[in-house]
Amino acid sequence: MKLTIGYFYKDLLNLYGDNGNVEILLYRAKKRGFDTELVNISIDTKITTELVKNINMVFMGGGPDSSQKAIYQDLLDDKKDFLKGYIDKGGVGLYVCGSYQLLGKYYKAADGSYLKGLSIFDLYTQHFGNQKKRCIGNTVAKLLINDSLLERTPSTIVGFENHGGRTFLGKEANPFAKIIKGHGNNSQDGTEGVYYKNSIGTYFHGPVLARNPHLADYLIAKSLKLDTIKPLDDSLAYSAHTASLKLKR
Ligand code: GLN
Repeated sequence: MKLTIGYFYKDLLNLYGDNGNVEILLYRAKKRGFDTELVNISIDTKITTELVKNINMVFMGGGPDSSQKAIYQDLLDDKKDFLKGYIDKGGVGLYVCGSYQLLGKYYKAADGSYLKGLSIFDLYTQHFGNQKKRCIGNTVAKLLINDSLLERTPSTIVGFENHGGRTFLGKEANPFAKIIKGHGNNSQDGTEGVYYKNSIGTYFHGPVLARNPHLADYLIAKSLKLDTIKPLDDSLAYSAHTASLKLKR
């Protein structure tokens, strides 16, 4: 069994150590004895059937408006067909902040420019300008994924957010989690991220999977189509998780 991660725009979308998530996924898969492969895909990588044929996990990190501007046209021109087909068919993936925003209908940036999104997720994002306070701080949310893989794990995820854009979900979009502490999608409706088929969009930045091993294992198990996954000794990570529940925003 092999975990093959398609890692998009590693060079341009990697705020606050988002790339740690890929390392965590590879590490945890190897610990279970699974083979792993990393397929790096950036602006100068053209999608071919051969390149993407084994991918069973996609990861894309976050980035500032300037990075989003640098990649959004390439996403539309070269990566859209693959990503839309992959996600709609139930392909597993994690998309953080700046990339999460670009998988929706559009992102209206801080300077008013309009970045067309891939319209895979039924949502849009608007930045209301630099005079409006950014959504920054520690976050805690209750997972809304109903899956037996998460039955015996913490029901919370902990993390960190830093975004100016506010995301609003459409009727077809279900949130990935319910905010307990922090801003989440828009600081108004208590929603955090999106959960669509087997893909997660989230504002939880940095190595969110290091702080939430249950989410990492959920993604690995889904990618490999496993009903259960052998636990690892995560006592240290979970004591950090428990401590994080009490952090100030
Ligand atoms: N530029 C986007 C925003 O501020 C995304 C930032 C990020 O990925 N942290 O909303």
